[in-house]
Amino acid sequence: MTRHYAVFGTPIAHSLSPRIHAAFGKQTGIDLEYVAIEAGPEDFTRKLDAFAARGGLGANITLPLKRRAAELAATLGDRARRTGVANTLVRRGDGWHADNTDGSGLVGDLTLRQGLDLRGRRTLLLGSGGGARGIAPALLDAGIDALYIVNRTAQNADALADLLGDPKRVHARYLDDLPALGEFDLIVNATSATRGGALPHLPMSMVGRRTAAVDLSYGEAAIPFLAWARANRCHDAIDGLGMLVEQAAESFEVWHGVRPDTDRVYADLRAHTDSLVTAD
Ligand code: NDP
Repeated sequence: MTRHYAVFGTPIAHSLSPRIHAAFGKQTGIDLEYVAIEAGPEDFTRKLDAFAARGGLGANITLPLKRRAAELAATLGDRARRTGVANTLVRRGDGWHADNTDGSGLVGDLTLRQGLDLRGRRTLLLGSGGGARGIAPALLDAGIDALYIVNRTAQNADALADLLGDPKRVHARYLDDLPALGEFDLIVNATSATRGGALPHLPMSMVGRRTAAVDLSYGEAAIPFLAWARANRCHDAIDGLGMLVEQAAESFEVWHGVRPDTDRVYADLRAHTDSLVTAD
C-alpha cells in the first residue's frame, strides 16, 4: 500500500524534496507518494490536519513553519526539544511527533562529503530562524569552538543564544559588530536574505587562512554568498544542496527505518541545479 508524505512551507513549488524522496523510495523499494503542499502560518494547521485525515504518515516542514511545527506536535524528540523547531513530523496515533534532522544533515554533509574537520573552528552563524536554530546544537556537538550568532533582528539572535545555554561558547552580536569580531574558521549563512533582498554587508576581515563559507541555500539563492566567499578567498565555498539530501535521508530513516544511499541522488541533483543556475 502506498505511504503518503509531504513537505509544507512557502514558497514550496520549486522544492527538491519530492524528487529526493521519490528517488530514495525507488532505491529502497518502498512504495511512497511525497508531495509539496504550499502552506503559510495562517493555513498550515488546517492543511496539516487535512493531510492527516487523508492518511498522511509524515511531513517535512520548511520555512517559515519550523517553529510552529514544534509547537503543534503532541510529542517532541530530543533534537526538536533542544532547538524549539521541527523539520520532520511523524504521525503517532492521533498526534504528531516532532524531530529535527537539519543539524545532523549539515554536519554529515560538511564532515563526510566535504571532508571538513569542524573541531575547534571559530564559527559565525548569520541568521537565527528555523534553519539556524536547527543546526546550532549540532555544530556545538561537532566540536566547534566559539559560536557567534548575528541576525538582522538582534532579539532573535539573543533568544537563540539563550536557548543554547552555553554562555562560555555562544555569543550573540549585532551586525554592526562584524568588522570588530576578527577571523572565523567557519561562516554559515542561514538567512533567507537573498530570497527577497540582499545579503548584509560582510567584511573581508572575517576571512582567515582556512575559512569555510557555507550557505544553507542552494541554486540561485546561494549565488551572492558563495560569490562573496570566492571573491574574498575563503578556503571552501559550499552550498546547502548536500545538507538538503542528508537531512532528507535522516527523515527517510525516521519514517521508514531504512537509511538510503545519498551519493547518487546528490550527484543527480548537483547536475540538475548547476544546469539551472548556469542557464540564467
Ligand atoms: P526563516 O524564515 O525561519 O528565517 C529567516 C532568517 O533570515 C532569519 O534569521 C531572518 O532574520 C533572516 N533574514 C531574512 N531576510 C533577511 C534580510 N533581508 N537580511 C538579513 N537577514 C534576513 O528561514 P529558515 O531559517 O528556515 O531558512 C533560511 C535559509 O536556509 C533559507 O534559504 C532556506 O532555504 C535555507 N535552509 C536550507 C536547508 C537545507 O537543507 N539546505 C535547511 C534549512 C534552511 P530576522 O530574524 O530578522 O527575520
